[in-house]
Amino acid sequence: MTPRWRFSLSAAPLRWLFFCLAFVVPLSPAAAQSCGAHGVTLQVLGSGGPELQDKRASSSYLIWQDGRARVLVDAGGGSALRFGESGAQMSQLDVILFTHFHVDHSADFPALIKSSWFEDRSRPLPIYGPPGNDFMPSTTEFVSDFFGPTRGVYRYLSELLAPAEKGSYKMQPHNVVAGQSPVVVFRADGLSISAVRVIHGAVPALAWRVELAGKVIVFSGDTNGDGEGLPRLAAGADLFVAHNAVPEGATGVERRLHMPPSVIGQIAAAAGVKRLVLSHRMLRTLGKEAQTEAEIRKHYSGPLAFANDLDCFPSD
Ligand SMILES: [Zn+2]
Repeated sequence: MTPRWRFSLSAAPLRWLFFCLAFVVPLSPAAAQSCGAHGVTLQVLGSGGPELQDKRASSSYLIWQDGRARVLVDAGGGSALRFGESGAQMSQLDVILFTHFHVDHSADFPALIKSSWFEDRSRPLPIYGPPGNDFMPSTTEFVSDFFGPTRGVYRYLSELLAPAEKGSYKMQPHNVVAGQSPVVVFRADGLSISAVRVIHGAVPALAWRVELAGKVIVFSGDTNGDGEGLPRLAAGADLFVAHNAVPEGATGVERRLHMPPSVIGQIAAAAGVKRLVLSHRMLRTLGKEAQTEAEIRKHYSGPLAFANDLDCFPSD
């Protein structure tokens, strides 16, 4: 075996490898962002519920405007990874909204905040969510239970919350007490954000309406659909994100917590929404899309989509 012969044998596959690599586009964060470059766009970070076997991140959504991630709604488990995959930066966010504090809507919040520590953010980060009760913390408690300087689980990051400490920026949590009529809670830089209270068992819960550049995106959060607040909040929405957590015919605790497809259809029709996005998909609703759509179609005839993680929905 001569050295020359050995070289030519190994060089051929190497040349082929270099040839192939020439056509591979590196996945830089900028290249990974394929959503929201123009106009107002909803990106679904987490389209699943609490079950890990659905192979989806839990509930979380981003609203993009012209390439900038402006609003984050919920931060369920897995959403921090999806946030990174989306190409968004925590420093871009104007506000974080929580619908409620079940694990599948809030568990990745500290991971997102820790990541933000490495970014160049200097302006405050407002955080809005429901008030508390005997079962659930309020939004201010939720944030301070993680980051409060004396008893917070992650008090080593208290500089991002405690006014007296020197940090690059501060979180500003607020408790939103809302009823059945939409109440505006945030208005800045072209954003107008309002909420109503929704019924989700004994858990204080909100639905959110985000208005931006003439577009309206509404999030039901988890709710059984009772009350007049949600159809009012969703009136005329360009996109209505409704949670498809239970199938038609659900009873007992499932039905007390969540709205079946027929109720989603009724609310979408009553509100006259322009497009319906079904998310918070669970093992009990996955695979039943045809039945779900048929129930919704008895009431609502507009465009309808079943969401998957990282899907983009332009508001136009
Ligand atoms: Zn949920």
